[in-house]
Amino acid sequence: VAPRQALASVGKYRQTGRVVRLRKPAAQAFKGLQKAAKAAGHDLIPVSGHRTLEYQKNLFERAKAKHGSVESAVRWVAPPGYSEHHTGYALDLGDGARAATDVDPSFENVPLFAWLSGNARTFGFEISFPPNNPQGVNYEPWHWRYVGDATARALFHSTGTIK
Ligand SMILES: [Zn+2]
Repeated sequence: VAPRQALASVGKYRQTGRVVRLRKPAAQAFKGLQKAAKAAGHDLIPVSGHRTLEYQKNLFERAKAKHGSVESAVRWVAPPGYSEHHTGYALDLGDGARAATDVDPSFENVPLFAWLSGNARTFGFEISFPPNNPQGVNYEPWHWRYVGDATARALFHSTGTIK
């Protein structure tokens, strides 16, 4: 879990008003990505960024209740301590005009997603869980991570154990 002083706000999630925070280098890169998306006619918004253990614990408990077992829940939500969101380098992206596609497989079909697929890498972002990923996590077209500096890259591309 990232220390509070290492984080910067990238805005609020429009559905809940919750402030979305990322590690400073990732926050700066996100703002560049957002600006470029806007210039291309897309309303890129942050949905979820850094999460504390407590917050992830609540999400996981809810996923267990919804999906019926730990085994099913882990395909949707990482257990507390294992989420990329703890690092402060991962975030869920959304389309400002399409709330129904937030954190939903249908996000893959919005024009913004096609734009991200072609442009996000320029700003240091990559999709964490592509289809049939080795981590065994469901395809998450909305979940991206920053790998634009050496620290972030080493975190995600060395051990491969973090989810
Ligand atoms: Zn996520």
